[in-house]
Amino acid sequence: MNFHPSIMKRLIQTLLLLLACHLAACAPHPQMDSESERQVLERIRAIRALRHDLAAAWPGFNAPQYDVPMLYYTDSICYAVNPTKSMCRHFGAQLAHEEKGLAIYRMERPDTLPFHMETHTEFRDSTYFAYRQPYLCCSSPELTRLVVPDVTTDSAWMPMVLHEYAHGYQYSHPELTACLAHTMPTYPEAEFARLHLEYEWFNHAIRTENQALLDALAAETSDEQAKHLHRFFSLRAERKTRMTAEFGHAALRDEEFYEYMEGMARYIEAEAGFRVGSYTERDTWLYDTDHSGYFFATGYNLVRLLERIGFDRTKLYEGTPRPLEQYLRDALAQRTE
Ligand SMILES: [Zn+2]
Repeated sequence: MNFHPSIMKRLIQTLLLLLACHLAACAPHPQMDSESERQVLERIRAIRALRHDLAAAWPGFNAPQYDVPMLYYTDSICYAVNPTKSMCRHFGAQLAHEEKGLAIYRMERPDTLPFHMETHTEFRDSTYFAYRQPYLCCSSPELTRLVVPDVTTDSAWMPMVLHEYAHGYQYSHPELTACLAHTMPTYPEAEFARLHLEYEWFNHAIRTENQALLDALAAETSDEQAKHLHRFFSLRAERKTRMTAEFGHAALRDEEFYEYMEGMARYIEAEAGFRVGSYTERDTWLYDTDHSGYFFATGYNLVRLLERIGFDRTKLYEGTPRPLEQYLRDALAQRTE
């Protein structure tokens, strides 16, 4: 049988097209099929679902514009969750799994540090891939356990990751990052958190202030609550005056920044912990300054008060950051209007 050359050409083209389709169908579709990778996938799905649920505790927390990529570290490789294109290029990440709203890439570990649980963003160098594009780093529960032995289950690990998602949410607000590019804290957070252990007067002042916040949280009427809050405002003003005189203005500015950032992050972490059953209201370390960095606890209590009073907390990260107690003053003024 002889074909006309033009028919022959079209037939060959069709055959080539069919062959190409067949090869594409046979190409290994990216997937995470091994037992260990399925576990990674399930954990990431659980974290994503929890982030979504937390919109009930913090309106808009799950909005797409506040979602940030995450690097999940195992002892041998990293998984990049919903990375940006520039992040993929920077780390040489390869697609491993894709489903609606979730893309996971495999990549080499960028470092050999034993533990990660932090949020990164670059404020100044506009040529860097993470310029004003926050991303989280977290170690797997197995690696986390080696550093934080209390983390014996995935449920104990998840609130820590959600704490970092809260920082990702904060850094996704352009006005906040623009402001931070000019005024970065001077003291490292961990060093600063020890301040109240070194100075007896300071420790006493922090405890008294925090007690006033806890009394306000426990108050049964709004008049009683206002009375405790006015005590808090005057105690805080008094301490800040002495703090500026003894430690300098930079110390005060850094405290205000850390309380502003960590207050919300602990709030989200606590709400995540309550939901997965690893934290309870009886965990005093959440709100007691004696059990952890004092500004985590005071910040958490201030944020809880804002929530109780019905203040629109999405306003916290819009515009130039202010000390948390000023938002509380706004909330009280709005209530009496
Ligand atoms: Zn934090």
